[in-house]
Amino acid sequence: MGEKGAGTSRPASRPASAGVDGPSIEQLRDEAMRRIGEATDPKALEAVRVELVGRHGQLTAMLRSLGRLPDPEQRRRVGQLLNELRAQLEQALESRRLALEEEAHRQRIEQERVDVTLPGRKPAVGRVHPVYATLADVLELFVGMGFEVVEGPEVELDYYNFQALNIPKDHPARDMQDTFYVTDEVLLRTHTSPMQIRTMVRRDPPVRVVVPGKVYRRDADVTHSPVFHQVEGLLVDEGVTMADLKGVLTEFARGLYGPQRPVRFVPSYFPFTEPSAEMYVQCGVCKGAGCRSCKGSGWLEILGSGMVHPQVLRNVGYDPERVSGFAFGMGIERITMLRYGIEDIRLLYENDLRFLRQF
Ligand SMILES: [Zn+2]
Repeated sequence: MGEKGAGTSRPASRPASAGVDGPSIEQLRDEAMRRIGEATDPKALEAVRVELVGRHGQLTAMLRSLGRLPDPEQRRRVGQLLNELRAQLEQALESRRLALEEEAHRQRIEQERVDVTLPGRKPAVGRVHPVYATLADVLELFVGMGFEVVEGPEVELDYYNFQALNIPKDHPARDMQDTFYVTDEVLLRTHTSPMQIRTMVRRDPPVRVVVPGKVYRRDADVTHSPVFHQVEGLLVDEGVTMADLKGVLTEFARGLYGPQRPVRFVPSYFPFTEPSAEMYVQCGVCKGAGCRSCKGSGWLEILGSGMVHPQVLRNVGYDPERVSGFAFGMGIERITMLRYGIEDIRLLYENDLRFLRQF
């Protein structure tokens, strides 16, 4: 350590003791002012402050080394110069700090500025799922013909789902529907038909209801899902005939597929209706000529129907000699797929927005 050394470690390249004569103090001032001016953020400025006037700073070290000057007059003079310099630097540091803060504040305001003249961002608007859109259209057509919408439980008793509908325990028709059983007597309904029974048990004729809802079957492939939607219909009154069935369902098909689309009824079998019929509409793709959509037949099945079986009427306490009625049921997924030409039922459940946005 030299005679005039301050005895402190510092990053400055110049010995601190160099400042004890006039010109060196000038040099130190110039360099300090330059570094203060070059500090572009509060952190860098603080580092400069510590190096200059901090506890181990350059100027601090020089003040400490004053005591080694032999001449009291020189000590006083140099001391005064250094104190003036320190006051100048502290003032420069403070005004630079304020300037940087002001600049940071100005920049933040600039960044946070809201341009109220920019066009607004439109929120993403959801839309009705094609299955529910079809369901709503189907219900609306029947409500327009005087039917009332009723709903019932998805977890159902075997009695309502099968037995009261003329399907006893050992009936082969149970094989037509693979059932999810909860217990021997409780199951997930395989169709919306149990609501025929629940409605008739509660009400006296005339009855005119449609029943939308989810149904469950142990079945899954490109056209079958273990859970899907059905709409059931039931009309019971005095003097209801097969002509009423055909009239109501033809009116429904015209509403859904247009008045020009031919329909036909084909004899079928259901345990709870007699006679029974499946209803077909002409294939909209080939106009009856036969194509892949209709498997070459020219026709598409849209629902099952029939006159309510006299035994079912007796099961709910109605007199089949006095009243008669018809019932029908349709799968909404199937109607939706036929309507939009969808070939894989799973597309309806995957919720792929690219698919859903097409409707
Ligand atoms: Zn066709």
